[in-house]
Amino acid sequence: MLPEPDGAVPAARLLTGGRIVTPGGVLNPGWIRLAGDLIGAVGAGDPRGQLAGLAAVDLRGQWVLPGFVDMHVHGGGGASFTEGTAEQARQAAEFHRRHGSTSLVASLVTASVATLEARAAMLAGLADEGVIAGIHLEGPFLAPARRGAQDPRHMIAPDVAVFERLQAAARGHLRVITLAPELPGAAAVIQAAVRSGVTAAIGHTDATAEVTAAAVDAGATHATHLFNGMRPLHHREPGAAGALLDRDEVSCEVIADCAHLHDITIRLTARAAGRGRLVLITDAMAAAGMPDGSYRLGSMSVNVTGGVARLGADPGPAGDRGADDRGPAGDATPPGAIAGSTATMASVVAHAIAAGLPVPEVAAAASTTPARVLGLGHRTGALGPGLAADLVVCDDEFRLRAVMRQGQWLAGPP
Ligand SMILES: [Zn+2]
Repeated sequence: MLPEPDGAVPAARLLTGGRIVTPGGVLNPGWIRLAGDLIGAVGAGDPRGQLAGLAAVDLRGQWVLPGFVDMHVHGGGGASFTEGTAEQARQAAEFHRRHGSTSLVASLVTASVATLEARAAMLAGLADEGVIAGIHLEGPFLAPARRGAQDPRHMIAPDVAVFERLQAAARGHLRVITLAPELPGAAAVIQAAVRSGVTAAIGHTDATAEVTAAAVDAGATHATHLFNGMRPLHHREPGAAGALLDRDEVSCEVIADCAHLHDITIRLTARAAGRGRLVLITDAMAAAGMPDGSYRLGSMSVNVTGGVARLGADPGPAGDRGADDRGPAGDATPPGAIAGSTATMASVVAHAIAAGLPVPEVAAAASTTPARVLGLGHRTGALGPGLAADLVVCDDEFRLRAVMRQGQWLAGPP
């Protein structure tokens, strides 16, 4: 690739020598010419002969990946999107940006409609400012039987009028709504979401494969943390997990930490979904980046032990806490459903690579595909000319070394 004619953008800078992960392959070594807050050009080899005079940052021995796009995250660094002030929500976004998420969608959990309206209105202000890339409603139209760490007291049947209230509160920033398709009225809400440009996602559901396939026919195109909070894949009843993985139009979130999925499950899902459908998310809550202890996820209390977040006090009937997420039979302690994660995008990316996924596939799943699903693919999600200069630099072990967002180093430069 040849550089564009230079000279118009005085802020042009050069990153050289790194292994640059582009949609077309890894350029090793490659270079990136920055043009203000955008990527001006990307190429292979050593460009300094042709681009002499530009200030260059030498990234030899390092990987350069597109900035991560986390489309499912509730909080981090001790702060949340699900409760607390706008300032705290800003801190949660800032925490994840420093850990590589140059774009993120704030996820709300099930709460009363009035609470969700107020949270959506507050987050819409942060979206106006560009702090977050949008809002994900994970509830309230979810199945109590697969509630995981969500509050069943506020779960209600899908209702188009409620959806429209929440959509109005979000002022055009609602990007995704997760719902359980077996609930009465689900198809109408899926259709209403699709009409208004909101991605309809299937999750926290006890639906069979047939019911799930019908929801995809109705317009659902995304799987919320595949396998977690849904029927497992049984060979005669493949459940929501099987039905969602089966459909080419469905993008599939996975939480690639050490707690939510076995590495074999991660690899099988990546192979079955192929490049362009797998989406890495954190599903992180406030405890990400914080010590073990007690935290909140919406109205629920969560205990973090050894970095694994589990539901504390259970307001619902005993023995019904999303048993699919409690681990293999016999693993009864600590009790409670897994309640979000304490991961960062940098940590799930490193874990997915350690689990055996090829680096370009991981970059697609952490950046390009979620950007496309969110309708942001024309702005970010890949290292290519004309896109935002959103990137991360990692060492050989995929430890995060630097983060650049819109041309500015947030952490680093290396
Ligand atoms: Zn979640």
